Amino acid sequence: MTYSRLLKWARTKRRSTRKGPNSTVSLKSLPKDLLVKVVATVASHSFTNLLAIKQCCKEFLDATEDRYVLQSVSLDAFPLIQWLPNNKASFFLNRCRENENVESLYREGLRKYFGNANGKIDGLCIMNKAAQKGHNEAKYVCGMISLCSGDDELRKQGLEYMRFLRKSKCVVRCRKKVKQLLVSLWKKPRMLNHNLSPLCKFKSTCKGWRVKTGRWVLLDDDDDDDLGLCEHCRWDHELKLFYHLFNVH
Ligand SMILES: [Zn+2]
Repeated sequence: MTYSRLLKWARTKRRSTRKGPNSTVSLKSLPKDLLVKVVATVASHSFTNLLAIKQCCKEFLDATEDRYVLQSVSLDAFPLIQWLPNNKASFFLNRCRENENVESLYREGLRKYFGNANGKIDGLCIMNKAAQKGHNEAKYVCGMISLCSGDDELRKQGLEYMRFLRKSKCVVRCRKKVKQLLVSLWKKPRMLNHNLSPLCKFKSTCKGWRVKTGRWVLLDDDDDDDLGLCEHCRWDHELKLFYHLFNVH
């Protein structure tokens, strides 16, 4: 049932049961899928919200056990790497992973890719899966890793991801979230390939670059709407910021 249909249903139900100005619809009378949808929406904003809604009533508590809620819940409250053992957190995160929470998939890919030199192919493959399921930060990381590569075909794929994010006006937001998540990652030397060759082949003379040089600071996503300027220069700038996250200079 879609959200608008659910709201329509709730309004109809309310009208049909209304007896006076103070009459209300009991949560018990609402269908389970509506409750799950409400709880999943709340949980997708923050894990803290999920904890709060669980304590509201038994109906919401039961709904939190639904697979869809575990798939949707935001994991922002958890670090990428749990340095200190926390059984409760590990149990919850494992359940999210088992239920195919996309954020979980993305994090697993990140840990594999940056955790050891042998995990790169597997890690990138997992992150690509999360990206294809619509996870924007996974798109950002896959896009940037591909642009760091020396393989021209891979760089083309990276451009596709970055173009999608730019059209959705969320490049800056994704970068900020990735930066936040990578705080707990130990930045080892050479964990990221450094491609010294810029995407823009005319960097020294490129009009787009010269126009933006010195003041290209994108404070929020709305600033990233100047599609008329050189696209390759735009991504060379993004690469510089991405390398900086890994102390690659
Ligand atoms: Zn250029």
